[in-house]
Amino acid sequence: MPDSPSLKVELAIIGAGPVGTSLAILAARAGFSTLLVDARDPQATPPRDTRNFAIVRGSWRLLGAAGVHPALEGETEPLMGLEATDGGRHWFGAPSVLFDTVDLPADAQGEPLGQMVPAAALQAALDTVAANEPNLTWWRNTRFATLETGPAHARIDMEDGRTVEAGLIAACDGVNSGVRTALGITTEGRPYGKSVFAADVKLERAHGGLARQLFTPEGPFATLPLPGNRANLAWYMKTGAAEVMAKQPVEAIEAELNARFSAFAGPMTLDGPPLAYPLHLQLATSLVGPRAALLGDAAHRINPLAGQGLNLGFKDVGALVDVMTESRSVGLDPGSDTSLQRYQQWRRFDAASTAMFMDAVDRAFSNDNAILKPLRGLALTAASRIGPIRRAMARQASADQSDLPSMMR
Ligand SMILES: Cc1cc2nc3c(=O)[nH]c(=O)nc-3n(C[C@H](O)[C@H](O)[C@H](O)COP(=O)(O)OP(=O)(O)OC[C@H]3O[C@@H](n4cnc5c(N)ncnc54)[C@H](O)[C@@H]3O)c2cc1C
Repeated sequence: MPDSPSLKVELAIIGAGPVGTSLAILAARAGFSTLLVDARDPQATPPRDTRNFAIVRGSWRLLGAAGVHPALEGETEPLMGLEATDGGRHWFGAPSVLFDTVDLPADAQGEPLGQMVPAAALQAALDTVAANEPNLTWWRNTRFATLETGPAHARIDMEDGRTVEAGLIAACDGVNSGVRTALGITTEGRPYGKSVFAADVKLERAHGGLARQLFTPEGPFATLPLPGNRANLAWYMKTGAAEVMAKQPVEAIEAELNARFSAFAGPMTLDGPPLAYPLHLQLATSLVGPRAALLGDAAHRINPLAGQGLNLGFKDVGALVDVMTESRSVGLDPGSDTSLQRYQQWRRFDAASTAMFMDAVDRAFSNDNAILKPLRGLALTAASRIGPIRRAMARQASADQSDLPSMMR
């Protein structure tokens, strides 16, 4: 291994999206010397992001532990329930309230299922907190280039020539993770051939805090509640069609939107420019490598159908901080194989099963199959009428499970 790294830390995080930045804050607060490697140029205007994230209760608690709530004041909308409608025309076409806040456990009654948070506001809030974190070194406008792992640490080289020696590398560099590739970890999955057209709209009908989803043969169309009786649209289309639609003049988009969906959502007017996001299913074949852990989209990219992708990433963050803290408390090296295997065992099943479940729902609902139509109508009706199913779905959607990291409970 070459000599003279310019910095030594316990944890080097590559990638400063929401997963990497929240991990940086929480690891630094837990007392680990931490470096955050951020490719973004702080002088440049951030690229537009028209996504709004459904942040479930457990993730919201984790953001609270990171001290991010005050910086998000006025930006969020409480999420009170989920309603699904099968748009295939048949006898089960009525909307089904799948679950709402009354399905939460007794000690959580009166609380929302989660919060809707604009992606740009979330990143800005995390950046504000990270900038004031004393135990955190933040290299901005810097890109990861290569790494070498040894028995006691890893050495990481940046494209600008800087280097760092770290006990543990956290790969938070997104779906095309260079760290994952450098570690030789492969992925499995497929492109969906679909993109999501995402835009904010003003509604005429009150949304009541409900996320409403209409399943059509082409894919789902969802309105996600935002402050001021606005909604964020997630409109699934074939890749290509969504990108073309996002570039149309405002009047043309509004005409198409209202012609197709005003019976479902009421009249809508655009409240800002739209963007299209291509969808993939991608799972890393391992969540760990020598002295390295994969988190967030670097580990799993899933269908955003039920808004779980970033929530899985926040569970990765909470789990890694717990594993590092537990290891340190018993005198174990947090970057050792033993610690990393504990992280992998904790997170692997949840990530894979959530990805597969979203994939199955997408396949079952995005078609006009004569056999599947009545079955899925029956499934929606049963799911909405049977108490234990509703409560299980509410717990899953709001991250009230038993194996949650400590900061999410
Ligand atoms: C339309 C849509 C809607 C969604 N809605 C939801 C939702 O409601 N709820 C939910 O939980 N999830 C949702 N998701 C999923 C969510 O967007 C992702 O899971 C989440 O953004 C992943 O965050 P991340 O930090 O892992 O990756 P990213 O946000 O991709 O961040 C990766 C970072 O790594 C940096 N990077 C890359 N390469 C390098 C390098 N070589 N060196 C240094 N840095 C590097 C990048 O610049 C970037 O800042 C949605 C996704 C889509 C497409």
